[in-house]
Amino acid sequence: MTVEIISVGTELLLGNILNTNAQFLGEKCALLGLSMYNQTVVGDNRERLGDAVVTALGRSDIVILTGGLGPTEDDLTKETCAKAMGMELAEDRHTRERIKEYFKNNIYKEIPDNNWKQAMVPAGAIVLDNHNGTAPGLILEKDGKRAILLPGPPDEMIPLFTEQVEPYLQKLRPELIVSRMVKICGMGESQVEDKLLDLIDKQTNPTIATYAKTGEVHVRVTASAPTAEVADRLIRPVVKEIKKRMGTFVYSTKEEETLEMAVVRLLKKHELTAATAESCTGGLVAGRLVNVPGASEVFKEGFVTYSNKAKRKHLDVNKNTLKKYGAVSRETAKEMAIGGALATGSDLCVAITGLAGPDGGTEEKPVGLVYMACCFGEKVTVEKYQFKGNREKIREQSVVRALDLVRRTVLENKN
Ligand code: AMP
Ligand code: MG
Repeated sequence: MTVEIISVGTELLLGNILNTNAQFLGEKCALLGLSMYNQTVVGDNRERLGDAVVTALGRSDIVILTGGLGPTEDDLTKETCAKAMGMELAEDRHTRERIKEYFKNNIYKEIPDNNWKQAMVPAGAIVLDNHNGTAPGLILEKDGKRAILLPGPPDEMIPLFTEQVEPYLQKLRPELIVSRMVKICGMGESQVEDKLLDLIDKQTNPTIATYAKTGEVHVRVTASAPTAEVADRLIRPVVKEIKKRMGTFVYSTKEEETLEMAVVRLLKKHELTAATAESCTGGLVAGRLVNVPGASEVFKEGFVTYSNKAKRKHLDVNKNTLKKYGAVSRETAKEMAIGGALATGSDLCVAITGLAGPDGGTEEKPVGLVYMACCFGEKVTVEKYQFKGNREKIREQSVVRALDLVRRTVLENKN
């Protein structure tokens, strides 16, 4: 079953607002297992909107429109869709009552005349009550085609969609769509794809899709089946195979589990405590760990040691090490990690020192050079990275790699 989106509004064309509705709906439709091949943005213009609707209905089973349902002159979506589908407008008494009710507690004494226009709906349309505004959502069905009209403001569109449109769309499909996520860290998207290429190539049901995130790759396995059990039976061997091929690069197979959650889970499992000693990431690693409820069980202390002086004072980094090798060096990273573990009495400490730029790079030590170390008991692992991108990107990537270094350190030493 195919679906497409028409986003209506001149402000979208002019770049005054971001088309977040299309992103939301795109993601939702994909999860519902609907195929989307086209999206259109069109201004508040009767003719061009009419053309867009006719074209969309000609090639897709379902067309979802957002915007242009307001009470003003430039709101044309309802009239235009009704005309394109050969439907007459008639007053919907229920909606008229709702508009009255909506204005009861409003600051306006009188209901603006043009608001009554919103009670006019194409005859036979399914009316979706909008609890956050006056424009109802509408579903028009004709000759096997469907147009779903939703108001533009996301705080009206999103609840209308999740509460009323999603169940409607689910019922249209005889099959259930179930998906599982395999989350990978420490491997690029092309590397992941390379390892899964034969699986991806022969995919039909379940399908496999890879998504690149900062420092991570997520692989979604989606099956369509008459029941959840059958879907699970289709998905399980594929997830198992992906996990086998990716090994310890997989940090989670739970949709809602983030990298920091996985790290905290592992530390808890092995009853370990961790500390952080950060330079260029300025506390971001600690911040990510503290994102996780219950992190206090495993995360005790974190240092932000930006200057050389701070590295010496809090982490006992040797003056000569800093002088001989510099703050951004394998040796300094190692001493930071050891010093952090000792100072806090933690089982493990991860340290990060690098050049986030934009200034300060040299030929020998270019911007993006980051050393990180993880001290676990007697053992210290040091890793060198050369990240690309601006300051923000370099720091973001460092955080992800540092969290992953903690994860890998625990796995290597505890399995
Ligand atoms: P409308 O229903 O066309 O009058 O739109 C009302 C408001 O909803 C706009 O001014 C925007 O703030 C918001 N809006 C409309 N379309 C979108 C969209 N595609 N994405 C995000 N916000 C939107
Ligand atoms: Mg508009």
